[in-house]
Amino acid sequence: MRFKARYVLAGELEVVENGVVEVDDSGVVVGVGKYTGGVAADLGNVVLMPQLVNAHVHVLDAAIIDRDDLYIDDLVGWPHGVKYHVVKGLVRRGRHVPLLKKVAQRMRSYGVGCAVIYAEYAARDVEEVFRQYGIEAVVFQEAHGDFPNYPNVQVASPLDHPVEYLKELRRRYRLVSTHVSETSDCHEGGDLELALKALDADVLVHLVHVTEEEIAQIPPHKAVVVNPRANAYFVGRIAPVHKLLHLKPLLGTDNVFMNEPDPWAEMKFLHAYSSAAGWALGEREILSMATVWAWEKLRCSPPIEPGKPLRGLAVAAPYTGNKVLKFLVKRTSHRDVIAFIEGGRLLQAWH
Ligand SMILES: [Zn+2]
Repeated sequence: MRFKARYVLAGELEVVENGVVEVDDSGVVVGVGKYTGGVAADLGNVVLMPQLVNAHVHVLDAAIIDRDDLYIDDLVGWPHGVKYHVVKGLVRRGRHVPLLKKVAQRMRSYGVGCAVIYAEYAARDVEEVFRQYGIEAVVFQEAHGDFPNYPNVQVASPLDHPVEYLKELRRRYRLVSTHVSETSDCHEGGDLELALKALDADVLVHLVHVTEEEIAQIPPHKAVVVNPRANAYFVGRIAPVHKLLHLKPLLGTDNVFMNEPDPWAEMKFLHAYSSAAGWALGEREILSMATVWAWEKLRCSPPIEPGKPLRGLAVAAPYTGNKVLKFLVKRTSHRDVIAFIEGGRLLQAWH
């Protein structure tokens, strides 16, 4: 099967004009390049690009949608925050699955192909529901001083637990993650050192308050995730993304109750903020944060290149000009997502 498109974002988001992608019978890409003739399904005036990644999202807290009337710790802090009280009750009554379906369906409609999800409870249900809606989910079950029966775990903050417990989590689980230095309190408490030395976390989320010396201590293979809108709302300051670029940071939308889990919106906010802050992030970097860097770090949403399964998005390109990446980051919204290309199949998007 071959798909032809006005633009293809191949590999590390190289723009191929009048591009073609060929897949074999198992849906794996066997060729990407310029179209030079032959039979191909013409996707038309679109950008064929990798599906988006939402690299940090709490999906169950949709149960407290738009609660923003308390200090961050009183809302989402473990164990007494409102979030834990409400979500725990929801899961106990078995009412979380219908809610998860609504969130998953909406995230899929934004063009999300892979999500890295924090589950306060019920990680298996989260994984299963998201898969039903076409989203691969790397789910982390929150550990509350116990040892959950799930391969990946997270702690809300390493400061909440004894060092020996953090080390034991590292020993027992496949992937480990935690929030780090979202607030100045956590930073002063030394949460980065605990996250790196005791928990040895694979995925570090936030890093709003970090010094250059601390950034230099983060090993390059770690996955680092930033959440610009959530940081703006909760703590009034954004992680220094321009100083994290060598770590290939990923982009998340954080709490669903606070932000719509839409990577297009997150990219636009980061683009505008970085301009205001004088960071001058490039569009290629911002789009990489929501696509190909997540493959490199977590095998989340493959790039379009030979040997990888094709999981593409066809995005409308009505008046793109020659700055395709800028168009995608600054102008595109989920309404421009026309279709999902899964291997040799084309699935119409819905809105
Ligand atoms: Zn979070």
